[in-house]
Amino acid sequence: MYKGGCLCGRVACEISGEIGDIVYCHCSQCRKARGSAFATNGNVEVEKFRFVCGQGELTGYESSFGRTKYFCRHCGSPIRNKDRAISHYVRVRLGTIEPDMMERPQVHIFVSSKANREEIGAELLPGSEKTAFELDIGKRILPVSACLQLA
Ligand SMILES: [Zn+2]
Ligand SMILES: [Zn+2]
Repeated sequence: MYKGGCLCGRVACEISGEIGDIVYCHCSQCRKARGSAFATNGNVEVEKFRFVCGQGELTGYESSFGRTKYFCRHCGSPIRNKDRAISHYVRVRLGTIEPDMMERPQVHIFVSSKANREEIGAELLPGSEKTAFELDIGKRILPVSACLQLA
């Protein structure tokens, strides 16, 4: 059993089955929808996915014909996709799943669309539990007010 949900806590869901077909997707739609270098997505059989609460708090965007991305209308967390072509599966955004997962990603896809700063298979940067401000790099991040002045 996996539990998932959005950032503000209004939307919660449960997955009672296996999460399959897990990919790191580098397509430009996933990058923009996540604001990230890539998305981690997996499929769950539709009857194994249920909302605990907050389904009515979702809003959707049809990114291509028959394919709608649903996200929390309050905090923007991407929760699931609905695709008419594969209606027996729910496409789940794995960043919203809370417990550790048994399943593992299988492949990077749409790698020709990947951000040029990303190197697949490259060694990860050293890990830290500190914030960017505790590390020195925080000084080079613009405060929000500076961003607004630039806009
Ligand atoms: Zn939310
Ligand atoms: Zn994608």
